[in-house]
Amino acid sequence: MKILMALAAVVFLAGCVNYAAERGIPQASGQIAEPPKISSPVTEEKFDYRDYRPPEESVDHPLLLKNPVARSPMPYFIINESEVNAYKYNLTLENIRIAFGAWENATKGKVKFIQVEEKPMEGIIIYVTPKNYYTYDIQPGASRQEVAGEASPVYYRYPNHSVIVGGEITVGPLYGTLENRVQIMHEIGHIMGFGHSNNSHSILFPVVAYSQEMTPDIREALDELYGNVPA
Ligand SMILES: [Zn+2]
Repeated sequence: MKILMALAAVVFLAGCVNYAAERGIPQASGQIAEPPKISSPVTEEKFDYRDYRPPEESVDHPLLLKNPVARSPMPYFIINESEVNAYKYNLTLENIRIAFGAWENATKGKVKFIQVEEKPMEGIIIYVTPKNYYTYDIQPGASRQEVAGEASPVYYRYPNHSVIVGGEITVGPLYGTLENRVQIMHEIGHIMGFGHSNNSHSILFPVVAYSQEMTPDIREALDELYGNVPA
């Protein structure tokens, strides 16, 4: 798995480069892993994601991946990268819990996120880092100071759909409480296979604002994508 991830190519999402204040540049391909040859011996899963039936019609929402479904339960592991202000770090931890809860609700419980204390083989790794961390994929002319986070999913690619098994999120604990929460919801959105929205009221808009929400189009897309996944 590690080797495959290292070999995977990084590709940019066309269209993202338009935003000077990009705060979470998704990598369109993320990191592609080969589908597992055998099912995991650790967890007995009633639902086999290889048998997932994608929606008949394409989901009317910008997606990074083809008909993405996230495996459940999905572990997440938090790494405090360096000296982040303790108050902001704790605030970020709380917002991470709330943000995962919001996505869990939006999938109607089809995807459950569970915080784990050991780095999982497959799962979401969250790096909490101070503002102005170095990132490698900012387009020329954009300010590094305005990048507050980024995310890329790790997924298995099947003929008609993608099964997300984790990914990496980097967040700087910026701004106020609500901006921080929206920011994290935005990055989880990329892990869930969503691209950017043009709707400035959406958490998927590329520039963060405290008032952004999980808009109905996101919920509708999730309803379609998870329609065949049992509770
Ligand atoms: Zn983004």
